[in-house]
Amino acid sequence: MVPEDSNRKPLPAPDADTAAFWRGLQQGKLLLQHCRRCRHVQYYQQATCRQCGRDELEHRPATGRGKVHSFSVVHRAPGPAFKADVPYAVLLVELAEGPRMISTLVGSDPEGVTFDMDVELAFDQVSDQITLPRFRKA
Ligand SMILES: [Zn+2]
Repeated sequence: MVPEDSNRKPLPAPDADTAAFWRGLQQGKLLLQHCRRCRHVQYYQQATCRQCGRDELEHRPATGRGKVHSFSVVHRAPGPAFKADVPYAVLLVELAEGPRMISTLVGSDPEGVTFDMDVELAFDQVSDQITLPRFRKA
């Protein structure tokens, strides 16, 4: 692990289970894992299906549409690196495909977020390797 510098935002480090996922984001696709056995769809990348335990997963790009299931507006930055961002909205988004994922809102007033608000994916390239999936009001 690289020592953390509190003035810089932590970035994800792709590994064997997540490399394809991060490559997809660089190409403007949010890849979800679909189980060929039980049809379960999952967001958190892992080697096996969380529902049936099989390893017959395949990646398919998400439509990018979703709804705000829950949210919180952050007014106090969790660290110096986030000071310029507050206030910002942390969203729990239910994707059209079913899985829920946590991310942040971009492009509009965080105080305007409501439950069940329609959102769509926005790709935020933060480094050469990492593009983060965020959401904007649809
Ligand atoms: Zn399954």
